[in-house]
Amino acid sequence: MTAALGVARVTVTPIAFPDPPLLNSAGIHQPWALRAVVQVHAADGSVGLGETYGDAPHLELLGRAAAALRGLDVFDLNGLRERVAAAVGVVDAPDRHGLTGPSSAAKTLARVVSPFEVALLDLQGHATGRPVVDLLGGRVRDRVPFSGYLFYKWAAHPGAEPDAYGEALDPAGIVDQARRMVQRYGFRSLKLKGGVFAPDEEIAAVRALRAAFPEHPLRLDPNCAWTVETSIRVAAETDGLLEYLEDPTPGLAGMAEVAAKAPMPLATNMCVVEFGDLPEAVARDSVQVVLSDHHYWGGLTESARLATICRTWGLGLSMHSNSHLGISLAAMVHLGAATPNLTYDVDTHTPWQLGADVLADPLAFDGGAVAVPDAPGLGVTLDPDALARMHADYLACGIRERDDTGYLRRFQPGYEKKRPRW
Ligand SMILES: [Mg+2]
Repeated sequence: MTAALGVARVTVTPIAFPDPPLLNSAGIHQPWALRAVVQVHAADGSVGLGETYGDAPHLELLGRAAAALRGLDVFDLNGLRERVAAAVGVVDAPDRHGLTGPSSAAKTLARVVSPFEVALLDLQGHATGRPVVDLLGGRVRDRVPFSGYLFYKWAAHPGAEPDAYGEALDPAGIVDQARRMVQRYGFRSLKLKGGVFAPDEEIAAVRALRAAFPEHPLRLDPNCAWTVETSIRVAAETDGLLEYLEDPTPGLAGMAEVAAKAPMPLATNMCVVEFGDLPEAVARDSVQVVLSDHHYWGGLTESARLATICRTWGLGLSMHSNSHLGISLAAMVHLGAATPNLTYDVDTHTPWQLGADVLADPLAFDGGAVAVPDAPGLGVTLDPDALARMHADYLACGIRERDDTGYLRRFQPGYEKKRPRW
């Protein structure tokens, strides 16, 4: 048996990168998205990478966890969870990234563990000479297909220059955005972030997408903007148009009422967001597709366990994303390639980062898919200059927590976050 490989030190670097004015049911994206890059340095000089949220309360917990990992064997993921749990304690930090329902200590802990777990898997890969996909059970596919993620958006942040995608505030704008994204990335399915305009306008956008892209599976995600009654009506009117309807209404009970009448599967990344949510969701048949996300399910190995539970209970499995960079994309690709029942194309915000990344050589999209790296670990390398630049942007940007609602209110003072709104 080879000797244990210990953690020597851990650094957590908050970063910021430009984010376009993307609308959703809670407001609009601020001009800068926050993330944190985790680097776990092993005793042999190798470095494992992780990426996570960059909001201030989360950063504070990441710092506590990072200080507790010295000497941990990089293969000891159970030890990681124990050490992080002890360092973080029972803390209930609110989520800023779209989950609903009460926050909880379990959810908080899963979010904090995740980037360190990914970094340890990266280190395990370097130590063994194997890609992370092999550590997660081996590849069942060589390329992981992604879905084009469409947003209603303004042309520019007020006072700034328009970005490459321009304005999208009606069906024609959404179709134009979809064409650009499909042309550039080759996506073979499309998801529209809804919950921004009255449901009939969003139904019209879905119909326009169907006319322009007859072969692309379509999804609509209004982020709990609708009542049960409205959700049932929209589901009926989009019968035959959607591969799934994502989080039309809040809560497991409301989703179950909609699911009983909706002709298509319901998906969620809002009401099933930790293992404790699964028993009630299954008992009520609230959702038919769970969107996994290693950033809040506790890492890649826990996400693989979620996949097994979904298979056990006959639930479909898809994958969620928030604004992210290339370390997260690589982690998603390895997980996606190792998960047999991930049968839906994976969400990604990569197009919206407009080329910004912390990696020396970001993974490329071809035909809407990303090839699984063969190199050891995650198969990606940090660009230290980019990291330093994005850290300087973090220090200068003045944003310390995501606040889509507060940012929109600056321009529309009467705006209120309301779920459901219609
Ligand atoms: Mg969603």
